[in-house]
Amino acid sequence: MVERGRVQSPGTRWSWVEVNLAALRRNVSAFRRLIGRGTQMMCVVKADAYGHGAVPCVRAMHSAGADQFAVATVNEGVALREAGVEWPILILSEPPVDCVDTLVAHDLMPAVYTADFALALGEAAAAQNRVARYHLAIDTGMTRIGVRRQDVVELRRTIDFHRGLECAGTFTHFATADVLDDWDFALQLNRFREAVEALRGAGLDTGLVHCDNTPGTIMHPECHFDMCRVGIGLYGLHPADVTRPRIDLEPVMSVRGRVVRVLYPSVGDGVGYGLTYRVPKQNIQIATVPIGYADGLARELSNNMEVLVNGFRCRQVGNICMDQFMFAVDVNSARSYRPNRPVEYGDVVTLVGEDGDEHIDVEEMAARRNTINYEVVCDFGMRLEKIYT
Ligand SMILES: *Cc1c(COP(=O)(O)O)cnc(C)c1O
Repeated sequence: MVERGRVQSPGTRWSWVEVNLAALRRNVSAFRRLIGRGTQMMCVVKADAYGHGAVPCVRAMHSAGADQFAVATVNEGVALREAGVEWPILILSEPPVDCVDTLVAHDLMPAVYTADFALALGEAAAAQNRVARYHLAIDTGMTRIGVRRQDVVELRRTIDFHRGLECAGTFTHFATADVLDDWDFALQLNRFREAVEALRGAGLDTGLVHCDNTPGTIMHPECHFDMCRVGIGLYGLHPADVTRPRIDLEPVMSVRGRVVRVLYPSVGDGVGYGLTYRVPKQNIQIATVPIGYADGLARELSNNMEVLVNGFRCRQVGNICMDQFMFAVDVNSARSYRPNRPVEYGDVVTLVGEDGDEHIDVEEMAARRNTINYEVVCDFGMRLEKIYT
């Protein structure tokens, strides 16, 4: 059971995300073993490491065997460099051309798929007497980013003369790596293989060849090539049910708060904006926790989620506010919502994680929100203070 006195909580606000770095390291090691020695491991830490906090996660990942890192935006890459991260960093799409100087100055490798961007990058590098490394992104069928597979060789021929450019990698991204025996996956993989062959046939250096995300890394060892790009799995979350039997992962994130106010309202009293819940009988406690939708607790969960207190499940009631929510404790009831005792000011409330024999996982919350685990953890990264254990 999560006891009041045992838990470290921030001094300024009674709500926090707990990040278990030991579990993160064990997940990284599990992928490291799966990938094997000859292949590099690129850990994807975009969106502040899927809400877990990029800088501490990057250090933990590197200590457990990560070779390279990937982010989504230039600012995410700059923040890692400013925090002293010196390992290779890839930006997973081609940013606006205005930031080429920033990329060169911070030694960030962008994905490249247009000649204009590539040549501007080369110019910026040459002006600083450097060589800019980039990864060529190929669209093999997801229709998101990348050069069309038919145009790969032509693009390289247009930019390769530039002495300020070096192709450090060639990659694509799968739309359906999490579907078993999928025809579209096989098609994308074939197209990628052909594009890589075409580059080699034209005498062009591909750098590191890579295509696997988490589900690809787990389900398709035949296409690990030179590097795997692993994201969600590192945080202990499965991208799909098909990957569960293949690798053991431990959840890294828990989300907790403390009761900041508790009372027994009168029967008929309403709770929260719109008074969408009314206290139906005597001896119902209503407790308040300082976590709201601006902290990533989606408002659509209002009156449709549960929390753990003192090892028991309690129903969230009323509309979730921007910074707070309320839950009900049925002190009389002999049914499952009864806690072992009424809750008190300062009691620890678990939204995601374990409390005694009970637990609420990210999947439960994702299912209630009609979304995927990725979005749930990213959202909790928005504002809550993080505590690393
Ligand atoms: C986000 C992303 C990944 C990681 O995906 P996961 O499913 O989290 O492993 C890999 N490659 C690219 C291009 C991405 O955008």
